[in-house]
Amino acid sequence: MATMSRRSRPSVIVVGAGAAGTLVAVHLARTAGRRSLGLDVTLIDPADRWGRGVAFGTSDDQHLLNVPAAGMSALPEEPGHFLAWLQRDEPGGDATAYSFASRRQYGRYLDGTLTDALADGLGELNLKHLRARAVGLRRAAAGSLVVTSDGRELRGDAVVLATGLPSSGSHWATSDLQNSAFFLPDPWAPGALDVIRRDRNGHPGVLVVGTGLTMVDVVLSLSDGANRPDRVIHAVSRHGRLPKTHAPEFALAAIPEISQWGDSLPELREQVWRHLSSVTRATGDWRPAMDGLRTQVAALWERLTEHDRAEFLARDASAWNVLRHRMAPSSGVVLREMRAAGRLTVAANRIVAAEPLPYGGLLVTFADGTDQNFGWVVNCTGPQADMRLLGDPLYDDLLHPRGGVSAAVAATGGMGVRTAHGRLLDSEGSTDAPVWTLGAMRRGELWESTAVPEIRSQALAVATAVLDEVAPLPRRLADGRVVSGRHPVARPRDPLGLPLSTTAEAAAAYNAGLERVMRLQSGADDLLREATRLDPDFAIAHAALAMLGHEAGADADVKASLEAARKAVRKRGDDRERSLIEVVGLRVKDVRRAGAQALMAHIADHPRDVLAVSAAVPTIAFSGVTDVQHEAWDLVEGLAPAYGDHWWYISLLAFTRQDQSRFDDAGMLAESALSCEPSSGHAVHAQTHVMYETGQHESGRVWLDHWVTESGRSASHRAHFSWHAALHELSLGDTEAVRRRYYSQLAPPTVTGVRALIDSASLLWRWKLTTSDWDGAVSAFGRGEAGAVFPGETQPPPVQPVLDAVDPVLLSAPQTPFVALHASIALAAAGDVAGLVELGRHCRHSRDASVRTIVATVCDALEAAVEGRWNDACRLLEDVLPVLVRVGGSAAQREVVEETLLFSLVNAGEAERAVKLLDSRLDRRTSLLDDRRRSSLTLAPVIA
Ligand SMILES: Cc1cc2nc3c(=O)[nH]c(=O)nc-3n(C[C@H](O)[C@H](O)[C@H](O)COP(=O)(O)OP(=O)(O)OC[C@H]3O[C@@H](n4cnc5c(N)ncnc54)[C@H](O)[C@@H]3O)c2cc1C
Repeated sequence: MATMSRRSRPSVIVVGAGAAGTLVAVHLARTAGRRSLGLDVTLIDPADRWGRGVAFGTSDDQHLLNVPAAGMSALPEEPGHFLAWLQRDEPGGDATAYSFASRRQYGRYLDGTLTDALADGLGELNLKHLRARAVGLRRAAAGSLVVTSDGRELRGDAVVLATGLPSSGSHWATSDLQNSAFFLPDPWAPGALDVIRRDRNGHPGVLVVGTGLTMVDVVLSLSDGANRPDRVIHAVSRHGRLPKTHAPEFALAAIPEISQWGDSLPELREQVWRHLSSVTRATGDWRPAMDGLRTQVAALWERLTEHDRAEFLARDASAWNVLRHRMAPSSGVVLREMRAAGRLTVAANRIVAAEPLPYGGLLVTFADGTDQNFGWVVNCTGPQADMRLLGDPLYDDLLHPRGGVSAAVAATGGMGVRTAHGRLLDSEGSTDAPVWTLGAMRRGELWESTAVPEIRSQALAVATAVLDEVAPLPRRLADGRVVSGRHPVARPRDPLGLPLSTTAEAAAAYNAGLERVMRLQSGADDLLREATRLDPDFAIAHAALAMLGHEAGADADVKASLEAARKAVRKRGDDRERSLIEVVGLRVKDVRRAGAQALMAHIADHPRDVLAVSAAVPTIAFSGVTDVQHEAWDLVEGLAPAYGDHWWYISLLAFTRQDQSRFDDAGMLAESALSCEPSSGHAVHAQTHVMYETGQHESGRVWLDHWVTESGRSASHRAHFSWHAALHELSLGDTEAVRRRYYSQLAPPTVTGVRALIDSASLLWRWKLTTSDWDGAVSAFGRGEAGAVFPGETQPPPVQPVLDAVDPVLLSAPQTPFVALHASIALAAAGDVAGLVELGRHCRHSRDASVRTIVATVCDALEAAVEGRWNDACRLLEDVLPVLVRVGGSAAQREVVEETLLFSLVNAGEAERAVKLLDSRLDRRTSLLDDRRRSSLTLAPVIA
């Protein structure tokens, strides 16, 4: 491919070089580079430079982005890309993920990102910027022709229309106003506001029509120090509502579960209202509810009939925009101060007449009967939404029938055109023409489609679809033949595009099951069973069942499924399928050694095999191939080229980043994954750890509770999420909440087996150490009530019912270091010295070095603690803590050992060492519990 001659190189024309067109070019360059594909791209736009468009072409640094830096990365797979650029652009500055940078900076960022992508593409992409306006589109024998205003006809194998928001509409203005030199119909025209800024002698009043975000920009530009000090700005609109401001601090989006919300506008209104009210009640703020809704808007919009959509546009859209499109907090402060100083007024009103004043300016009469003189009137009513009313030659040409067929059909309200995933539908409903669009041109079918968070994902999808069309990747069929991209006998594929040797119907059931595994949802085993029922010879569906049964506790007959898989693959299957079945067989025999080696070799050959990767990476669902943190990190990071920005991979990467204590990156990655897939359990898990490790206990608990009851309703491992919420509650000192949660979500029979061992038992031990028993310990050495952290705290629930709900083998002969560690904790919680001795003996004979050394020592330490030999317990725990990471699990899970050390130190009378340990934790993150424990020690007379 790399040697393709210039003449045979595919060509793509992108009309519009604003943010959307530039991002398409970025992704064309990056993807073509990765595929070693030579490509010619022509960007057509009269603008003098790419990456600006209306929004980012402003030269006024007061015009800020209305989305925080974390949401503005050009690359969906790297949510921190823009923030890193900002930090490089302003060395020593204070940019954070929640900064609102200037739009001018953002224009430079987009410009630089495309320039870098071209440089990194190893010259595969040849990009030309043609400064012209496209006025028409024609079908060509191959590809399409774009007609430009200067009469050229350019042929492209594919065309992307990235023409952005329509121009401002001023049809509402009376003819006197339209004809006045003191009326500015388009404040975004280059230099349009300069004439007002320079005006020192006319009437000081400026009337701004429209009270949305454009008005905010205009007010900022017309009120700074370069303007006359006596300027007063009056803003009017039909409703007189200003956009809301962003919260001063970042808050996680609360994504609602919408499957039961119904299809009609009245039902959706009620549900949206319910969602807003419940999130406001829980968090004290409505904004997380709006931010969560944003991820579901396209799905909700799709449910509405054309009639309901029209009704929404007429009655709800303006309220929606006020809440959804918010201004930066600093802009909100400026506007508030101006209003307080009488320099800005905002009112609901409408112009009915305008007359020229003798010395310049206008006398404006309003619908409420009042009139007033103004120096200038500025139109800030925003773009004319209906493309059919614009008189734009390109849009008119697209909608104009030729031979009875028009190239495009207007979507709802004329807000762009109809498409199939971005590819234009003609008036016959066909997607034959190789023409795509994105951004504002898809508003009618998506509603929210004009901001960068939506546009960047569309740009990547369009670039990939275009390349798949103009230069399809070769594919290998089951019989070994290599064919071009689309082929009638090609097999069905899994969610990552890997071929499946089965029928389309069975593949659909298998894929639904696999997606449940990827989202950490329950019910995957039923869907896989359904796939094997639909096609009994579907080998990897049998193998997947065996794997889930063996490694993830699913309800499956592992031996029978493995046997069925082996039998089926002899009849039908490709290399990957055969290899996977062999791997599952080895894993069943020996999960770690031979099984792990075979799994890693399989992943090296088939990195996009999601099932294999799921089993290899240690997560809440699978124990993985390693307990060594670095090995798990290397595995995940090494898979980046195979997955790019796939939400599932981004979720795993988010978890890795929090493990590496890179909490900002982890948070951004998790948010980005959740905006694509609100049910991604891995992303929620990563975000949960970020909240815990950064001390956001109250907001973490509320957010997690919301997720568990909404998008996470069918999450598997729900007990683990409940455990996380309980840790927040413990940290907040709210033991009544812990008790309620334990009995409703973590006590047997709700939770049993290995989850009960890991989550329920360890919670009970921590609870005991940090509350009632702590008080006892402190008062014992501290001689008084002064030290009580939780005065009057009663004992946590008994641990025996949990132990009864766990397979006894897990307690006496656990295999992995992580389970062995939790078995020792559970036995300690039960005060079972004999059990600890027996477990310790088993550990010392283990073939696993971490079990043999680390967990065996923990058993000794816990035995000493239960017997009240506190100095021994302290010594052993201090020995083991530095290497504890080798048992696997997360920092939050391993923390239970540190809690035991703290408790032992206090009991051993080592208050100073305990305070030091607490201080090192409090330096890392806030915790009411740790604060209270620390002051219980420092107030106690022993060290006073
Ligand atoms: C004032 C303002 C502020 C905004 N702030 C933000 C923000 O902070 N964050 C955010 O995410 N979004 C913001 N938005 C939303 C914004 O629309 C998008 O983020 C983004 O700029 C849209 O890019 P685009 O390329 O689709 O459209 P545009 O930026 O409108 O670019 C379209 C380009 O197409 C060209 N063009 C149009 N027709 C033709 C033709 N026939 N032939 C050739 N070229 C043509 C135009 O010259 C233009 O350069 C803002 C929008 C506005 C208006």
